[in-house]
Amino acid sequence: MNEIPADIDIDKIAELFHTTKQRVRGLLNRRTLHKTPDGNLILDKSISGVESGTNVFLKNYEVVCGFPKIQRAMMLQSALAAHFSCKSVAVEEKMNGYNTRVAYIDNKIIALTRGGHTCPYTTEKAQTLIPKEIFTDHPGIVLCGEMAGPDSPYVPKNIYNVKSLEFFLFDIREKNTGMPLSVAAKYNIAEQYNITCTKLFGVYPLTEAYNKITRIIKNLGACGREGVVIKDPAMKQPPLKYTSSQSNCSDLQHAFTYYHDYAKSFFYSRIAREAFQSVEWNETPEEIQSRCIQLGEGILQPMITTIKKIQEEEKISENVQILVKSLNTAEKFKEHLRILGIDAIFHRPEKINNEYLVKIQKINQRTNDKTESILTGNTW
Ligand code: ATP
Ligand code: MG
Repeated sequence: MNEIPADIDIDKIAELFHTTKQRVRGLLNRRTLHKTPDGNLILDKSISGVESGTNVFLKNYEVVCGFPKIQRAMMLQSALAAHFSCKSVAVEEKMNGYNTRVAYIDNKIIALTRGGHTCPYTTEKAQTLIPKEIFTDHPGIVLCGEMAGPDSPYVPKNIYNVKSLEFFLFDIREKNTGMPLSVAAKYNIAEQYNITCTKLFGVYPLTEAYNKITRIIKNLGACGREGVVIKDPAMKQPPLKYTSSQSNCSDLQHAFTYYHDYAKSFFYSRIAREAFQSVEWNETPEEIQSRCIQLGEGILQPMITTIKKIQEEEKISENVQILVKSLNTAEKFKEHLRILGIDAIFHRPEKINNEYLVKIQKINQRTNDKTESILTGNTW
């Protein structure tokens, strides 16, 4: 059994998680709830009513709730009807970056990534991108958004016309409860403090939503963009997500490059999406054929390229970069990746105006090892 750190107030956590002290002790013993190097607590798995990725800041027992999982529509038309009972739905762009929660803790702006860790790099960016006044005026809010752009160490993308890394707000939630504000209240506050939001395509009557969204998805796909999140304008019902075929294929392309570093479920679910979308769109044999080619290419091309590279003794790695104001942030970020168990080589920083560009090579060890082993005659 693990020793429970003496400075943790079990009563307080039980109260915050709406559970018993015994349950909290169990979570701590199993390390489902564990202390991070910066001295806070992270919940690694959801328990009833508390999302995974929830962070408890021990200094004043403030809670930043984990961002809830968004269910995915597979057959859009029936999913819309089965899922929503509101009269209309708000359709927002689903951006492809990484989930970031920004909160004001102990008089400082901090940024958490999906798992609940405070990311030093994302925090530095958030501190320059988000005006402090939003939090001094509303200390109890958490800004949930997507960090996107080329200088993203997790999901680098060039498709959003972003110079380095930008924050796109999509939800405002309450600290401690995780309750979301309505879509209108969110846009209101965002406008007041000049914070960029994910695009709102419109608020459509539920009966018209399928046709509108299908048109939007086809257009987004054609520009390589990911998809939409469909929300109850009052945010009383949970949202749904739906993505373009092009984004599924580009996810597959990426994942098959590092095929042995991804879980099998990642591939399977994306293939299933393609099949259901084709049926829902009532595709002609020619359209089905072209979908098959795109899907097949997305799977085989990257894998063949990977195998050939390793055959030529090149190592497979994912190249990303960060742009920091302070070299100390880069150092802290290096430690952050180490804690997350990500194997990475940091290159020498290049000074660009007042900032430093640091190129990072993330090593996909499992794919390298597996491929090498097969190439030398080992069986799968
Ligand atoms: P999950 O399904 O658990 O949310 P995932 O990693 O599978 O996680 P995605 O498929 O990327 O996530 O879809 C959900 C994520 O989409 C959210 O966690 C959020 O980061 C992102 N997102 C982008 N745009 C929006 C938006 N407009 N509204 C809500 N979420 C958005
Ligand atoms: Mg995403």
